[in-house]
Amino acid sequence: MKAVAFVGLGNMGGPMAANLVKAGYAVTGFDPVEAARALATEAGVVVTASAAEAVVGAEVVITMLPSGRHVLDVYQGTAAAPGLLASAPAGALFVDCSTIAVSDARSAAALVVAAGHRALDAPVSGGVVGAAAGTLTLMVGALPADLEAVREVLEPMAGRVVHCGEPGAGQAAKICNNLILGISMIGVSEAFVLGEKLGLSHQALFDVTSTASGQCWALTTNCPVPGPVPTSPANRSYQPGFAAPLMAKDLGLALQAASSAGMSAGLGALAASLYREFAEGNGSGLDFSAIINEIRDAS
Ligand code: NAD
Repeated sequence: MKAVAFVGLGNMGGPMAANLVKAGYAVTGFDPVEAARALATEAGVVVTASAAEAVVGAEVVITMLPSGRHVLDVYQGTAAAPGLLASAPAGALFVDCSTIAVSDARSAAALVVAAGHRALDAPVSGGVVGAAAGTLTLMVGALPADLEAVREVLEPMAGRVVHCGEPGAGQAAKICNNLILGISMIGVSEAFVLGEKLGLSHQALFDVTSTASGQCWALTTNCPVPGPVPTSPANRSYQPGFAAPLMAKDLGLALQAASSAGMSAGLGALAASLYREFAEGNGSGLDFSAIINEIRDAS
């Protein structure tokens, strides 16, 4: 079995690394936060004193970090910390599961290859619940042979692994999906608030739209009003789920990609600005579906 290093043991990375341990992999890992280190140690990860130490001897190096800047810094190293690219054995498979800009993913892949390693981007969808259950969807940008070389390591974390194209293509698929999701959640929320004003019950509107052409994930899985879908975050005071700041981040990445591709994404821009304002205010600790309350309050 391949030796795996896991850098970034937070809300997502911690349970993902734990699933690799459960599947029998020897996992070394690093995170600067003590609470994350303690949880990972409890799950069987051998936690090292630095990120560079974690990758010594690793055939697969997985990163799950907040942003592209974190990924590029940890790959290249800083004045204070040696980088992963220089510390991993030649030919290591670098798998970045973080959600980052397509341009950063392409820069990261170029650095990995220039250092004599192999690069994959594999952003995920499924949230902390999917990370714990090992049922994430992984959207992979990689050369086909590199994906095949690492597939067995991805499987304990994944319900589905989709090959989207060459490096960067996984991130492209991820932000396109979340562009749809951000816009559709606002559409569903506006429809429920309009329904309230027209005297429709939530259940009646749900019963129609969930089987009519308005059907979508934002409605049938993450319904923004309590009642029709008992497992949706609306039934637990909008505890995430998928937090509003993460949606604001992903819509920002989608707009950045649209702008560099010369595309005008009108609804995406509006959704991004609504989510940014919400994430910086009332929505900072809430599921992204709680935007319905802002829409209602503004009406
Ligand atoms: P998190 O903040 O819980 O975890 C990130 C971890 O990276 C933190 O523990 C942090 O201490 C660690 N870190 C920062 N700098 C580091 C370094 N130099 N070396 C090692 N570790 C370092 O965030 P998260 O929710 O786990 O999200 C991680 C990534 O996954 C993000 O890119 C996010 O957009 C994406 N994502 C999150 C979700 C979700 O529901 N939380 C869903 C899909 C994708």
